[in-house]
Amino acid sequence: MNIEDLKAEIIAYSKEIGIDKIGFTTADPFVELKERLRRQQELGYQSGFEKGTIEERTEPRLLFPDAQSIISIAVAYPAKMENAPKSTRGDRRGVFCRASWGIDYHDALKERLSKLSDFIKSKETEFTGKLMVDTGELVDKAVAERAGIGFGGKNTLLITPEFGSYVYLGELITNIPFTPDEPLEDSCGDCTICIDVCPTGAIVQGGQLDSKRCIAFLTQVKDFVPEEFRDKIGNRLYGCDTCQAVCPRNRHVDFHLHADLEPEPEIVKPQLKPILKMSNRQFKETYGHMAGSWRGKKPIQRNAIIALGVYKDNTAIDELIEILVNDPRPVMRGTAAWSLGKIGTDAALIAISEAKEREADDQVLYEIDLALNKLEGGAASNAR
Ligand code: SF4
Ligand code: SF4
Repeated sequence: MNIEDLKAEIIAYSKEIGIDKIGFTTADPFVELKERLRRQQELGYQSGFEKGTIEERTEPRLLFPDAQSIISIAVAYPAKMENAPKSTRGDRRGVFCRASWGIDYHDALKERLSKLSDFIKSKETEFTGKLMVDTGELVDKAVAERAGIGFGGKNTLLITPEFGSYVYLGELITNIPFTPDEPLEDSCGDCTICIDVCPTGAIVQGGQLDSKRCIAFLTQVKDFVPEEFRDKIGNRLYGCDTCQAVCPRNRHVDFHLHADLEPEPEIVKPQLKPILKMSNRQFKETYGHMAGSWRGKKPIQRNAIIALGVYKDNTAIDELIEILVNDPRPVMRGTAAWSLGKIGTDAALIAISEAKEREADDQVLYEIDLALNKLEGGAASNAR
């Protein structure tokens, strides 16, 4: 089949299988990106979650020697949730970011890309391809930008004219030399809202992300969250939407085009206290289908402990003391000490002081001392 006709058929078919935008680009190396990734690495801004070397991330032919083109796809996800439960005193709730609403988007997009691949194969028997969504080596945003899906915003996300930045991205490297689409001529202009509003100052140098300061990353680490970021994490259990929520390009954007990407309100905005006691099995049954569960139960529970401290929820004292005394994981005991210190009632102070006598782990002891210093400092300044 003529390549232009095949391209037209692929575009038409993509609409039938829940792909909202599609673009084509060459399989040439991503030269500018390579430079940017090198700078990022030198500055120590990478998260550590990236897959592959800088060469593999920027040279499609290293991943797929027959590569001739890349098809980039975007699928829009909702920005607003109907019937969101309220977080109230004594019944505080945490939040999962929008990219964790519905089923895991990796699965949702891989399914669509597989169908696309089967379709191309049915038209062109010589076709071979390799699909990727987020966790592959290629940088989805860079591919989408070059394929004309959207432009790179200063918040480091891809912004489409139609769906704002609320899109999931994936790609299919192919052995067919499709004609490339033109990148969009668009930009943030003078706007710097996301840079000014980011709670941790993670967006630096006009559009570079210091991943280690980004809340989206910090909510996923399994170790202690550095103390300076805990209040800023607030009630976030997974991810952070702030730099998308404030973006003028997302104003009035809220698409509900796919049933599999709709949020379940009780699951994406859950009560905090029950999370503390969840077994692995309960966690898997409740959250296993979501993107936000990929790091397992531990970071979500740790973030729930932080959120209860940030809320100063004194109805959670018994649960937090139970963790401080009995949880085998030092990260949980230490974070519980911090939260009890924030809540700061007499019962919290007594529990932290008693824990100090029994505790053997250095990091937990450090957290205990930090909490006691704050509480005793607060008591001293109140007495003055
Ligand atoms: S996700 Fe949150 S912390 Fe990260 S850059 Fe955006 S606003 Fe800042
Ligand atoms: S908030 Fe402004 S600077 Fe940031 S991504 Fe949106 S348009 Fe660009």
